[in-house]
Amino acid sequence: MSRVTVVGGGIIGLAVAAELLDRGADVTVLDPAPDGTGGAWHVAAGMLAPGGESAFEYPHLTRLLEASHGLWPEFAASLGDIGYDTAGTLSVALTADDVASAAREWRHQKLTPLSGSRVRELEPGISPRVRAGAFAADEHQADPRRVVAVLRDRLGGRIVPRRVADLSEVDADVVVVAAGAGTAALTGLPIRAVKGQVLRLRGEPGLLRHVIDGAADGRHVYLVPRADGEVVVGATQEEITDSRNTAGGVHDLLRAALDLVPGLAEHELTEVTVGHRPGTPDNGPILGLLDDPARRVVVAAGHFRNGILLAPITARLIADLVLTGSADPIIDGFAPGRFR
Ligand SMILES: Cc1cc2nc3c(=O)[nH]c(=O)nc-3n(C[C@H](O)[C@H](O)[C@H](O)COP(=O)(O)OP(=O)(O)OC[C@H]3O[C@@H](n4cnc5c(N)ncnc54)[C@H](O)[C@@H]3O)c2cc1C
Repeated sequence: MSRVTVVGGGIIGLAVAAELLDRGADVTVLDPAPDGTGGAWHVAAGMLAPGGESAFEYPHLTRLLEASHGLWPEFAASLGDIGYDTAGTLSVALTADDVASAAREWRHQKLTPLSGSRVRELEPGISPRVRAGAFAADEHQADPRRVVAVLRDRLGGRIVPRRVADLSEVDADVVVVAAGAGTAALTGLPIRAVKGQVLRLRGEPGLLRHVIDGAADGRHVYLVPRADGEVVVGATQEEITDSRNTAGGVHDLLRAALDLVPGLAEHELTEVTVGHRPGTPDNGPILGLLDDPARRVVVAAGHFRNGILLAPITARLIADLVLTGSADPIIDGFAPGRFR
């Protein structure tokens, strides 16, 4: 039986470890955060939106996003109640300029534009000032914190609180590096931290039924409503590595959120957070064997804006690679060697 150590207990490391455990491997996960809250997953909204990347610019990535989206119903069912919600996403635009730029995106995603009044029929909490929208039925959501909690429970004592400084310290037959933005320091791979500020609001459940992906006076915001009344408001995207919430970042998110859904003004502001997306030069994850002489290091990192969506397919591909030495050819476009 293979002894596999997964470095990083974020959503990717845990999904890979749980899949390996199910398939009979002897797995250990190393992560310094005792409650596991160190990763990007802890702030992530949990949108499962395969149309988020341009299919034209990133055809390999679009195929991977769609394939993982197809695995989500089974993945969610295997985890239990993790807030998997298939009500869909309503994209909305406030001003004429917002409509003009959103319309390009709607055409690209082959979505039918809706009038402002039709948008409010679908989602009565949307402001009467919103001019138009479009409905993406296959853009779903799940709560990453609940996913991680279930996976942590499943792995139990196999999660060891430890920060790895050098992969040569890790005693195992195979090492899977799934350390998110921390992967660059361990492997030298080009993964950079891309800051995102996110807010959480809380109020009476039911103000919103769908995920809202909106533009308000040139400000982009998404609102992800959970069944218990939480609404996740995200997110800035900043090429900077600090962890500060800024007045400008919080203002832009709140202003856009309240312009689109005025009823949110009565919600409590419960969290103001920052996370770091593990970005790569081509926005695609890095999946596969590192070119080390022992051929024992496998990388599963760099999932950038889509790590929640990509968790099920990453788990499957990496477990196949670790246990059988090969995986579906869809993995080939994401090899660690592609940036040399
Ligand atoms: C603001 C924001 C919003 C997002 N929204 C979405 C969304 O709606 N949908 C979506 O699909 N994705 C979203 N994402 C992206 C998603 O969160 C990430 O792609 C995903 O979390 C990556 O998972 P990961 O496990 O690789 O990394 P992380 O979640 O960052 O976890 C990495 C783990 O590795 C550990 N680690 C780091 N260094 C070491 C080390 N040296 N030794 C041991 N352990 C280490 C850390 O403690 C951490 O637990 C969002 C991200 C951000 C920041």
